Amino acid sequence: MERKTHSRQSRWVGSSQFCNKNRKYLLQKQILKLRKILIHLQKKSEMKEELEERLVKKYPKFFEYLKDYKGPLIPIQFGFECGDGWYVLIDSLMESIYNHIESRKKHPHTQIKSKFWRAIMPRLHKSVRYSKKIYKLVNKIEKKLKKENIPAPYVDIIQVKEKFGGLRFYINGGDDYIYGMISLAEDMSYRTCEFCGSTKNIGQTSGWITTICKDCFDKGSRVNSKNWNPIDE
Ligand SMILES: [Zn+2]
Repeated sequence: MERKTHSRQSRWVGSSQFCNKNRKYLLQKQILKLRKILIHLQKKSEMKEELEERLVKKYPKFFEYLKDYKGPLIPIQFGFECGDGWYVLIDSLMESIYNHIESRKKHPHTQIKSKFWRAIMPRLHKSVRYSKKIYKLVNKIEKKLKKENIPAPYVDIIQVKEKFGGLRFYINGGDDYIYGMISLAEDMSYRTCEFCGSTKNIGQTSGWITTICKDCFDKGSRVNSKNWNPIDE
């Protein structure tokens, strides 16, 4: 028995450098394989690589923080973990965020001024709302904000995935305006088929919740559930 154990050890551990290197390589390969399986199990669906690449190339700024990352799973560490049907939704969201940041770079005060109009004005009494004094006050604040030059927000896209049938879009940075846009896109995902992007005949599967149109559900190999219920319009 002892002899057997000894022979097994010498076979796998070995004493030569070559054997150690080989073992390390095999171990690394196995870890990578295991990691891929784990990610596959966690993911219900994933976006086509070609579409992922298109988004990353279109908006490289959101992924700059990943430039030193050398793992196998780019563009985001775990890719876009949702179906192709939400591509247009995600693309529109990223474009809006990008445009917002660019406009804030050019006119840092404008968003704050419009926020002031939207937040303060409705609360004022009609008689004072359009008075010259208010206009003068707003212009004064605008000038002050221009001088202070509040910097444009930055955005790092950390994770994009599907959860409980809806889009989840996680970022670092941003501002209230951007959080509002993300919230709108996430709400819209509950009315958009995750597989084909259609907004007609949308429903959800029970059990493992997926937002999917009737046609895609009937074709159905991608969904584990047998029950489909239309969403309340
Ligand atoms: Zn569909």
